[in-house]
Amino acid sequence: MVMNGLNGLNGLNGRAETWPASARPSSRGSSNGTGVTDHHTAHAYEAGGPRSRPFAHMRTWADDPKVMAFPRISKPMELMKHAYDCVVIGSGYGGGVAAARMARAGKHVCVLERGKERWPGEFPTGTGDALDQLHFSGQIVPPWLPKKVVHGGDPTGMYHLIFGNGQNALVGNGLGGTSLINANVFLEADEDALQLEQWPDEIRNNKGCLRKYYDKAAEVLEPEEYPNDWPDIPKLELLKRQAQYLNMSEKFSRVRQTTRFRNGPNSCGVEMSASASTGQDATGLNDGSKTTTLVTYLADAWNWGADMFCQSEVRYITEAFTKNGKKDGYIVYFAWHGGNRGHFKANLHDDLMWVHAKEAVFLGAGAIGTTEILLRSKQMGLKMSDKVGQNMSGNGDMLAFGYNTDYEVNAMGQRFPSPYHPIGPCITGIIDNRKGHENPLDGYVIEEGTIPEALAPFMQALLELMPGSIETADESLFDTVKANLARAGSFFLGPYFRKGAIERTQVYLIMSHDSNQAYLTLKEDKPVLEFIGVGRSDHVKYLNRILEKATRAVGGTFVQNPFYSLLGQQQITVHPIG
Ligand SMILES: Cc1cc2nc3c(=O)[nH]c(=O)nc-3n(C[C@H](O)[C@H](O)[C@H](O)COP(=O)(O)OP(=O)(O)OC[C@H]3O[C@@H](n4cnc5c(N)ncnc54)[C@H](O)[C@@H]3O)c2cc1C
Repeated sequence: MVMNGLNGLNGLNGRAETWPASARPSSRGSSNGTGVTDHHTAHAYEAGGPRSRPFAHMRTWADDPKVMAFPRISKPMELMKHAYDCVVIGSGYGGGVAAARMARAGKHVCVLERGKERWPGEFPTGTGDALDQLHFSGQIVPPWLPKKVVHGGDPTGMYHLIFGNGQNALVGNGLGGTSLINANVFLEADEDALQLEQWPDEIRNNKGCLRKYYDKAAEVLEPEEYPNDWPDIPKLELLKRQAQYLNMSEKFSRVRQTTRFRNGPNSCGVEMSASASTGQDATGLNDGSKTTTLVTYLADAWNWGADMFCQSEVRYITEAFTKNGKKDGYIVYFAWHGGNRGHFKANLHDDLMWVHAKEAVFLGAGAIGTTEILLRSKQMGLKMSDKVGQNMSGNGDMLAFGYNTDYEVNAMGQRFPSPYHPIGPCITGIIDNRKGHENPLDGYVIEEGTIPEALAPFMQALLELMPGSIETADESLFDTVKANLARAGSFFLGPYFRKGAIERTQVYLIMSHDSNQAYLTLKEDKPVLEFIGVGRSDHVKYLNRILEKATRAVGGTFVQNPFYSLLGQQQITVHPIG
């Protein structure tokens, strides 16, 4: 089934044989001197920019205005068939790639995704909207609460906060997975780290073997750096300055990111808009500039006939057999949250639906989601290694702040920022200090970030109340008065006051390595994460000292992750791996 031009998804005139170049409606070569061919110019000169709900659709090139709205690509549950060649669980990078590849290989594919389908314009921006989308689960461990397995919020909501013992994790939920809320950085793994014994021999003994796969992903996701001819972004300029103070100028660069900086079709033929520099990436971008799996791999899978079903939470997998006892693929059991069934929480997980995967099941439910499904499947009799659930990692993630520096930073996301005062995409720059360490685990990257609007109202209280912040010593009286005025400015005039402390706060995101000693187990049938020795505490202290130095150099107060205390003295990872 080819959705040939149907509602103009990508205007393909039949299936492309190779991918993605011929999946593009045409090459970027010009037939009219403008750099794009005629039928693709429909929106090329329109300004990109944030959309509001009434415009919650991606534009297409269809000539008929009636079909210019982007169609939903997931299907109602009633249209699910009882058997498919392949069932793909989850729809982030893992699930998205599997779905597109299998559909292109001519397989009959079914994608099951726990979250909902949302397009740019439909992502939450305000605090209330965002809180409505929060789902939390796990074992809550702040010292002031009893250690308890908790589960709350909407399981199909966009943000899933997983409480763990030793570290918490944040992942995305929805058609597009965490790519809907990530910071778009497209970074290749450090070759030295790939030599560690945790990696399979096929990768360790074959330096550079991932190259062709990075290239394939880059062809689809089209990462590029924040353009040099775009307006300067204060947070990026400040990170560059901080790299100089740290004697790491040569390690600083703009980072390749999966953000669009021009209007027009992407590699899979979906119409995109140039970034409106809102800094709202972590709650979902409404400006149509985020190259998520929704607008690439999943759109492609849809075009090649894959069936996608949302609000479908897979619980476990069993082997299937014919009447004669011959192996016949797998049965995937899932709870469907649609049709208001989500209101009957008590029964939802006992009242499962199923679908038959005749050839293969691809688990792309994220490191935590996939492990949870595997552990439950094991309990239901599926054979697998005892190592499942062991040696997971939080990737050494740290979040910290350079509060109230001497410089404008402008890192608070805004749904409609002034074009003269761009915030920028969430991350645009990097200090890449991964190479040249005797122990590759000592490598790290520092990136600057933004805080989405939904959290902006709380930032000052969080940053000021945080214990253990380190103020700049030896400040002159003038500097101290200036800093206090900036604090008062933010306090009385809000987080967006140009000269206020919050507008002068640099957000640091650090990725390094932890001790890979996390475990996922099922308690009361709910997944519980336990991180042992997460900190590699000397390494964490060392990284904190570097950030502190970078902050002092620009006159700010170094503040560790303010959620650290709130969430029981533990960091939060956005990169659970396992
Ligand atoms: C705020 C933030 C910023 C980030 N920034 C970056 C960055 O800049 N660069 C980078 O490389 N990485 C970044 N990451 C991490 C990156 O996005 C993830 O590593 C990546 O998306 C993981 O892909 P995945 O396919 O394994 O899982 P996911 O993308 O998490 O997809 C899993 C999907 O499976 C679904 N699912 C889970 N359980 C079930 C179930 N039982 N049944 C059905 N469906 C289920 C989920 O709803 C989800 O849609 C960031 C993450 C976050 C949270």
